[in-house]
Formats: sequence, structure tokens, C-alpha cells
Amino acid sequence: MHKHHSALGLAKALRPVEPVTLVRPHAAKRAARFFVEKFPGTTMYAVKANPSPELLQILWDAGITHYDVASIGEVRMARRALPKAVLCFMHPVKAEEAIEEAYFVHGVRTFSLDTMDELEKIVRATRGAQDLNLCVRIRVSSDHSKLSLAAKFGAEPEDVAELLVATRQAADALGICFHVGSQAMTPAAYAEAMERVRVAIVASSVTVDIVDVGGGFPSTYPGMEPPPLDAYFGVIHNAFENLPISYSAELWCEPGRALCAEYSSLIVRVEKRRGDELYINDGAYGALFDAAHVGWRFPVTLLREGVAAETEAFSFYGPTCDDMDHMAGPFELPADVAAGDYIEVGMLGAYGCAMRTAFNGFGSDTVHEVTDEPMATLYSGIAIERPTNVVSLDQFKRRARR
Ligand SMILES: *Cc1c(COP(=O)(O)O)cnc(C)c1O
Repeated sequence: MHKHHSALGLAKALRPVEPVTLVRPHAAKRAARFFVEKFPGTTMYAVKANPSPELLQILWDAGITHYDVASIGEVRMARRALPKAVLCFMHPVKAEEAIEEAYFVHGVRTFSLDTMDELEKIVRATRGAQDLNLCVRIRVSSDHSKLSLAAKFGAEPEDVAELLVATRQAADALGICFHVGSQAMTPAAYAEAMERVRVAIVASSVTVDIVDVGGGFPSTYPGMEPPPLDAYFGVIHNAFENLPISYSAELWCEPGRALCAEYSSLIVRVEKRRGDELYINDGAYGALFDAAHVGWRFPVTLLREGVAAETEAFSFYGPTCDDMDHMAGPFELPADVAAGDYIEVGMLGAYGCAMRTAFNGFGSDTVHEVTDEPMATLYSGIAIERPTNVVSLDQFKRRARR
């Protein structure tokens, strides 16, 4: 991979005709170290947010040992990339053949479920294995999140007790998991979900070994600046301490976005300007799926020296022939932006690069590494190298649970 000092330097030197993905390994490493050192439990990376093998290696090297995989394709890919990683199959609806291959070929022992049918499927596919960690996914509200995950998965409150009791019989370790929705803008989302967990435990009177608070940890985007992640960890830790669970119960989380959003950005070229509309060479079918389909606002920078002082709000058209290939933004850019200019679109490491297609013959696989800072960060002022005086996770847990 080619290495450059900055996005601006790269655009000036290469004048790329096709979109270029920039990666910032130091940013992913910093995010991973933050979770490893500060989350009061085990951090599992949700692979779907960005499955790049290079990223998986960076996270592994930074201390992330657990990976949330959702399809047999992700199981195989993650196992190939990280032979020693703990893989957890956290999609509540799986093909029986996928469960069987995951268990017998790839060593997967942790599965999630939200129905009796899925529980029976897991028991059949693993031939009644006695070493399973089974996590019952409960339905929680997505009210505090920018992208809902409340409609599709999760056992209803009235079914949870029966399902927990049945799962307890089949499981070596029993877990409860949930997902508050992606980009949760307040820690209260987790406090409310943990209350559901408490009610479910009380209603079923089972011993719970694992509480998995899922993903949803935010990154930072224009108009979506969340409180610091420490505040989320504090709320989760308090709620966990107040659950009726055993002293040895484990706390897990499954961040996707928060671990990788800062890892990647994209350099696009303006091919045409029509008033306040810019026609750029990536879009809805490229890395900008969320910008088009859910109106996500990503930060943008014009990569040119000597830009106009005043800015204007622009919308983007992507390169395909499809009217839907439109991104409303608004994207704030210098007023004199013109055809031939390069723009960096930031914070695309999560659900950006992972969504790319080659529809209509557009898109490119060109990747360059840069060493400058991402356009925004939740992790400023955090030392990347581990200082020797940092309390280890085990110490932290023991101290916190006293
Ligand atoms: C998508 C997903 C995640 C990651 O969600 P983020 O909002 O990116 O943190 C975690 N767990 C499950 C089960 C998911 O489906």
C-alpha cells in the first residue's frame, strides 16, 4: 500500500481520476486501545461495519480478541484473517448449515437467538453440544439512535422468560444481549435497555452469565456530536453493577461504528458543478450509501490550497445514471468549488467502504494509507502507545465490582 503524509498532499501529487479510499491505521488503533482500556468488560468488534482484513489485523494487534460475525461468509473471512480470534455468531436468524459449519469447522461457541425455533436449530446443528454460550437477544427501543434496529430482531417481553429458561437448559453460559440501534446519541439508551434486562432476569429467575450491551456506540458527524464515550461506559457499568447477576458474570459490548468510523475517508473529484449541486465520482452505490439512502451527513473538506473564505451548502450527485444517486447533505464547502477540484469525505470507515458496489462500472479499489488525522475524532488526547501505569482490565473489573 502507498503511504502519504496527508490527503491534501496525495490529491495534489496524484490527481486521481477515480475515487481513492484513504486509511488511517493509527486512528483505528487508537479507538481499539480506548475500548480495550476503558470499557469495563470485553469488547467484541462487529465485523459488518468494516470487514477489511487489514483493519481486523490492526484491531487484533491493539488487543481486540472477540469478533461479532453475522453470516457464514463473515465467519470464514474472519477466521482466515485471525486464526486465534474468538468469533461470536450474533445474528439471531441463521441457516442451520451455517451454525453447523461455524461450530464444527471454525470453532464458534457463541450464538445469539431470539426464538424457540432458533434455539432448536442451534441444538440440532451442534448435535446437542455442551459447550455453548447462548445469548438471548431481547427487543429494546431504538428511540435514542439515528438508525433503528428495533423492528427486526429481539424477543418480546412476554416471551423472554420462557425463552431464557429453555435456553438455560441448552447453554453452558447463558447471555442476554440487545442492540439499541446505531449511533445512539445518549447513554440513556443503554440505561433503558439494561432496565429491560433486569426485568427479564427477575421474570425468569435464571442465572445469567453474560450481559452483552451490543453496538450503537456513536462516532461524530456534522450535527451528530455525541457525549464522550466515557459517559456511555459509566452508565453501562452502573447498570451492570445493579443487575441481579452473579459476581462472576461478564459484561460484553459489540461496537462496530465507534471502532472504525475514523479509519477511512474517501477522495472524490468534482466532475461538474450546477449551482449548488456538485456531480462527484462516488455516491449511493459506492462508499456513500448512507449519505444517499438515510441522509447521513459526513464531514467534507476541499483539497486545494487557496480556497474561498466563505462557504456554501452543497448537495451531491453520484456518478451513476440513477436519479436516486443523490446526497442531499447539506455539505458545507468553500463557495468557489469547481469541476476538477478534489473533496475528502470523512468518517467513512464504518458502513462506507463496506457498502461499495461496482454498479454502472463506477467505483474503484484504490487504497492509500495516510498519516494525518481523521476529520473528526472521539479519541483526541488519548495516547496511542500504552503507558505503563494503565490499570489492566482485570484489575479494573475487580476494583469496580468490589
Ligand atoms: C450492526 C451490529 C452491531 C454494530 O453496531 P454499531 O452501531 O455499528 O456499533 C453490533 N451487534 C449487532 C448484533 C449488529 O447487528
